[in-house]
Amino acid sequence: MVHHSPIIVWFRNDLRIHDNPALYHASLNGNPIIPLFILDKDAMDRDYGAAQKLWLHYALNSLREEFKKFDLDLIVRQGNTLEILDSIIKETNAVGVYWNRHYERWQIERDDNIKSSLLRREIDAHSFKANLLFEPWEIESGSGSPYKVFTPYYKKCMYHMDNLPPPLPKLGVIKTVEHKLDIGNISTLKLLPNIKWDKKIKDNWDISEDGAWLKLNSFLKKCLDNYKDGRNIPSVDKTSQMSPYLRWGMISPLSIWHETTLYSQANDVPEAQYKSYLREIIWREFTHHLLYYNPDMKDKPIQSKFTDFPWDYNRSYLEAWQSGCTGYPIVDAGMRQLWQTGWMHNRVRMIVGSFLVKHLLQPWQSGEKWFWDTLVDADPANNTAGWQWIGGCGADAAPYFRIFNPMTQGEKFDAYAYVRKYVPEISDLSDKFLMRPWEAEKDLLSRNKIILGETYPKPIISHKEGREKALAAFEAIKN
Ligand code: FAD
Repeated sequence: MVHHSPIIVWFRNDLRIHDNPALYHASLNGNPIIPLFILDKDAMDRDYGAAQKLWLHYALNSLREEFKKFDLDLIVRQGNTLEILDSIIKETNAVGVYWNRHYERWQIERDDNIKSSLLRREIDAHSFKANLLFEPWEIESGSGSPYKVFTPYYKKCMYHMDNLPPPLPKLGVIKTVEHKLDIGNISTLKLLPNIKWDKKIKDNWDISEDGAWLKLNSFLKKCLDNYKDGRNIPSVDKTSQMSPYLRWGMISPLSIWHETTLYSQANDVPEAQYKSYLREIIWREFTHHLLYYNPDMKDKPIQSKFTDFPWDYNRSYLEAWQSGCTGYPIVDAGMRQLWQTGWMHNRVRMIVGSFLVKHLLQPWQSGEKWFWDTLVDADPANNTAGWQWIGGCGADAAPYFRIFNPMTQGEKFDAYAYVRKYVPEISDLSDKFLMRPWEAEKDLLSRNKIILGETYPKPIISHKEGREKALAAFEAIKN
């Protein structure tokens, strides 16, 4: 009988069993597996936000449960990655370490160092593509340079699409090995908040790999054939809500791509609808492409002329925005949805972002930080690219002078039910005034028990003043 030596599968943001290349290839030759997660705070360029930690806590618990079905224990550790890997290699006689690649600069540098250290000692070290359809460097323009504009990038991806392999086959068995390792208590990672604000968020999501698949399948059945228009209406849940699962790698983009294509073909989903969805998946690829080539993107504008933008640093503006008390119902609804659920609808992310950066003239980096702390899907590529897009300073960004009108945006995209849900204190107002309560007669307001400035804030700034200030600031850096 051949006794294979174990291989460590080092889990990071790829907390799934299915279509997980590192796990699959490690177990391919019948080697027993030691699944390992390490929280290495010193290596990170910034700590996870509070909502991300909460998600990670439950995702690790769920992954541990999944591995139990294979009779395996997920080992959890905290500390220096290489030291931990070395000690586990020593204790278990592991002959290899496999992992899936990520694309932040600190991860790339750390992983390179770990790989060379392991290879030097003749320990098999392998990394895989798992969390993107294309590696950032695989898609390049005709002249060999990185892309700065989405549409040509998208076309290039579509051109290469036929070369993508299908997702990996399901793993039937994963070999296990006896060891004396302490499996580690997930709660010692202290990912849950001390103040118990997490229950509502937790109740809102099924934080598991199965949860990701259930959500995807329900989205395909109920929403895909009307995604193109439905995706813009915050009042209805017509988007896939795959973002936190993708951020933590609980489902692969390849699985999403594959399932969407198969479902569309089998059910004659109109091409415009499903392509519109797949296009968003390519947006995610594009932001990772941008992050790879602009590793300082979370702080530094991609367009350097924005470096000295004349922001109006103002704590009370920022706090009013964060707490959903700006007096603009659609903005406040979005910020409260974020606080209550850890997620916000994309259309509303754009509206609240534009309001902060343009009407209130607060730096986009402040918005990025708040989202980083409060979104369960806060993603180093998508969040920073989203904010740079809003700020007009990113690659292929919305021009700074295009300023969203928060009232007409709410009206155009039928956000009435959404606002009524998250801003209940004005929910009795008719549609006519819901997005602009300050335009309603005092009588009408008092009949609905609304006193602006008391039961609901007055607008923190008038639309006209906000717009003019933003345009003047933009003039200052134009040349
Ligand atoms: P769907 O419409 O179902 O789209 C499917 C998937 O495509 C998403 O899960 C996401 O992975 C990808 N996708 C969709 N829209 C975009 C986009 N504009 N850019 C990149 N990828 C996209 N997304 C995050 O995942 N994490 C973030 O931290 C994040 N921060 C954002 C900040 C701002 C200011 C803005 C404007 C957008 C941000 N987005 C972020 C992008 C987008 O809002 C979310 O991906 C989307 O709302 C998630 O919901 P969904 O999964 O239902 O999306």
